[in-house]
Amino acid sequence: MTQPEPTSPWSATTNTPGWDALFLALLVCAVLIINSFAEATLPNLVQDELRHPLLGALLPALGAAAMGTPSPRPGDPLGLFLNATTLGLLLGYFVVDLGLNGRVRRRGKWLLLVGILLTTVFLPTGKLILLRQGSGPASYTHDGGVIQRLTTMRAFVLDGPGLGAVREVPAPEPAPGEALVAVERVGVCGTDAELFSGHMAYLHQGHASFPLRPGHEWCGRVTGVGPGVDPAWVGRRVMGDTMLGCGTCHRCRRGRQHVCERRTEVGVRGGRHGALAELIAVPAGSLHALPDTVDPLLGALVEPAGNALRAARAADAGPDDRVLVAGPGTIGLLTALFLRAGGAEVHLVGVTAASLAFARSLGFDRTWEPATLPALAFDAVVDATNAADLPALALDRVEPGGRVVLIGLAGQPSGIDTRTLAFKDVTAVGILSASPALADTVRALADGVIDPRPLVAATVGLDQTAAVLRGERPAGAGPGPKIHIDPRRAPG
Ligand SMILES: [Zn+2]
Ligand SMILES: [Zn+2]
Repeated sequence: MTQPEPTSPWSATTNTPGWDALFLALLVCAVLIINSFAEATLPNLVQDELRHPLLGALLPALGAAAMGTPSPRPGDPLGLFLNATTLGLLLGYFVVDLGLNGRVRRRGKWLLLVGILLTTVFLPTGKLILLRQGSGPASYTHDGGVIQRLTTMRAFVLDGPGLGAVREVPAPEPAPGEALVAVERVGVCGTDAELFSGHMAYLHQGHASFPLRPGHEWCGRVTGVGPGVDPAWVGRRVMGDTMLGCGTCHRCRRGRQHVCERRTEVGVRGGRHGALAELIAVPAGSLHALPDTVDPLLGALVEPAGNALRAARAADAGPDDRVLVAGPGTIGLLTALFLRAGGAEVHLVGVTAASLAFARSLGFDRTWEPATLPALAFDAVVDATNAADLPALALDRVEPGGRVVLIGLAGQPSGIDTRTLAFKDVTAVGILSASPALADTVRALADGVIDPRPLVAATVGLDQTAAVLRGERPAGAGPGPKIHIDPRRAPG
């Protein structure tokens, strides 16, 4: 079941009807009352003024235009103050006009007139600047082309193993250095399923604990920034790095923040809330801007594709090289796509007929079950499975002088004979994250180096997250291994 694609949310910004509308209504009422009062009792004093085309019509029009300008944060104290100031000045003008005489009246009127003109210029400008910056305690989501302020939002919350539900939670605020992003698409992967089942290693090592909010393969649009962040981010489509290093330790300073001891991981580790929600606040430094050619589907594939790109590069295989990729899941297939794009002869080994059939539909003709795997010379072997015996098999099958790439994680330790590693002069590479390859991956997807679209079997709403994590296939899902979640509220 695929949700309709909402129109571009940033193209339309609307004001939530609320305080602005109330002030506008009050202003109109005030003008009407004063007008009728003036006509009835003080014709000479007021009617000339109100009939004067410049003041009688222009002032209320200016005030209305100023107060009708969409507020960046409808209902917040600053917006209320700005609107109240305009209204006060307008009312003050008429009160002075009615109640005072002579020089005092003239001076008061001129003073208020200047104030009104200043306010009516400043108010809309100020509002529009704030709207563009989106800074401060603003929280928005897009709703079929409309941006609304949210004080709460919908998020998928895991309370314990197998216990997950969509909840209304407080909307995040961007802290200093952070950006607030309206999430467009989130991929669900094995890590999320392990968090859901309670088997994820971090839960037992103390790096993660319930309740937690998953979602780390995501993309969206920046709707606000915290202090110290370039407002130019606002409105940009982005994806974000999962790994958030401390930024100060030896590893972080060497550009290896993804293995920082003190790192948090978005939606995975250290209590960092994930993207299975309408909004997410993340450090602006972790963002990667997405070009228009990388749509939400591709944007949410950047993170897994970044892991795959690193695995493919670690295999160091080009034309004339033969590579075996074990595990035709999302990471295995993405790695195979990158390897094929680099010119290598790619073989895939898997255990289910359906996954191998899907691999063949992507044009991979050399697919094998373990029992039928031919005795070929593989220049590199990539383990993208969760099978504990695979690393040993990879080491066994790789050519001497070749490379073994380990990106899959088994539920229990897997053993290899390191003597074989030495005797065969094999290079073994472990890969934890996509971080160092994210920028290159965005470029590769934008340039169409690989086409991973068929991997996404279905895109469903946030409410179906628990079912997806339980392993249920959405109705009408294609044969691909990846399910996407669109956490936006359905339009209308
Ligand atoms: Zn993942
Ligand atoms: Zn660090």
